[in-house]
Amino acid sequence: MKLTIGNLCLAICLLGLAVFEQRGNAHSLEGDEVHSHRDVVDWPKNLLSLGEGEISGFMATSLPTAGKTKSVKRYADTPVQALPFQVFSKAVNLRWDENHLFVESNGMPEHSMMVGIRRWIGRFPMPQSYRGRNAWAIPLNPKPAAVPRSARTGFYRGAIAMAANGVPIFNPLTNGGRDTFLSKELDRFGGHAGNGEDYHYHIAPLHLQAQLGPEHPIAYALDGYPIYGLTEPNGQATGRLDAFNGHIGPNGDYHYHSSMSYPYVNGGFHGVVQERGGQVDPQPRSTLSRRQPFRADRNAVITGFQVIEPNRHYRLQYAAQGAVSSVEYSKGESGEWRFCFRLSNGFVGEETIVEGSSTGEGQPPGGAPRGRGDRRRPRPHRR
Ligand SMILES: [Zn+2]
Ligand SMILES: [Zn+2]
Repeated sequence: MKLTIGNLCLAICLLGLAVFEQRGNAHSLEGDEVHSHRDVVDWPKNLLSLGEGEISGFMATSLPTAGKTKSVKRYADTPVQALPFQVFSKAVNLRWDENHLFVESNGMPEHSMMVGIRRWIGRFPMPQSYRGRNAWAIPLNPKPAAVPRSARTGFYRGAIAMAANGVPIFNPLTNGGRDTFLSKELDRFGGHAGNGEDYHYHIAPLHLQAQLGPEHPIAYALDGYPIYGLTEPNGQATGRLDAFNGHIGPNGDYHYHSSMSYPYVNGGFHGVVQERGGQVDPQPRSTLSRRQPFRADRNAVITGFQVIEPNRHYRLQYAAQGAVSSVEYSKGESGEWRFCFRLSNGFVGEETIVEGSSTGEGQPPGGAPRGRGDRRRPRPHRR
């Protein structure tokens, strides 16, 4: 038998004790706990103070260093909107026409993911195919909308902004009005994996400022207006902001700012956007097969995430009731993803999913097109 990553994973699975126990604890997100004021105040400090040990594997070398920003050269035909993305040129491909900047990425950030999540929705970060016709489009000529649209009352599905590192930013609120940050669904960088196994932020990725400095926006809202950090580009305090965290800045242009409490990013769209099916349209879709979320213990806290091989092989650990479980997933030679579950209750099993169908976070139940891809439920091994 040829030794592949997938086979190795399976072998590890088979070594485990094969006791299958169906767990009946549906993952519930009811009953939000609220972050203390201190947690919220410490948030950017936490994001910027992560040590090398917390950044996984190969990523350590590209760990941002506060105060050390990368300068980018602007050629005559480069739209100004491209500049912050160019700082992350290892992760992002750019192209543009007169109307749009197209941002291609796989949606996987350089920093560690998932660690610190206390309300895990059972999804895993997996590389996406945000490229070609499935790239992100930032309008280059934003126009103020006749009636600005609030993200408090809509746009619960899909992204509302695009971070400079190629990771989308979703509405901080769910359609039930729950604040994903306060309800501890997010990792230490303000992100998590959504229903398309797509990693995204729900709050401002302020850690990107370590590479960008205050002069660059950290993201662009999907209406085309930039989102700066907590200060003006010149480092001065922001003036009065509107309900969407925006204002006309010192240079006379409208822009948004980040904030430490809701709305965190753009609280809606000052500019014109098209809305379809509860999200900004068009926008890329996840290319992975739809499957049921993994049901971890309700009290699970994600404690570890390793990149074993970039874009191909990952391991996530979580703790519940003092015991550690792990899920390892890797891409096989024919493009399939094999998940290997080794749970603290003795369950050992695997699941394979195949790329090729689409899904997205917040799809209405039953309303989404069925995936074309193959899907198998976790299968216990018995001996
Ligand atoms: Zn999400
Ligand atoms: Zn401003």
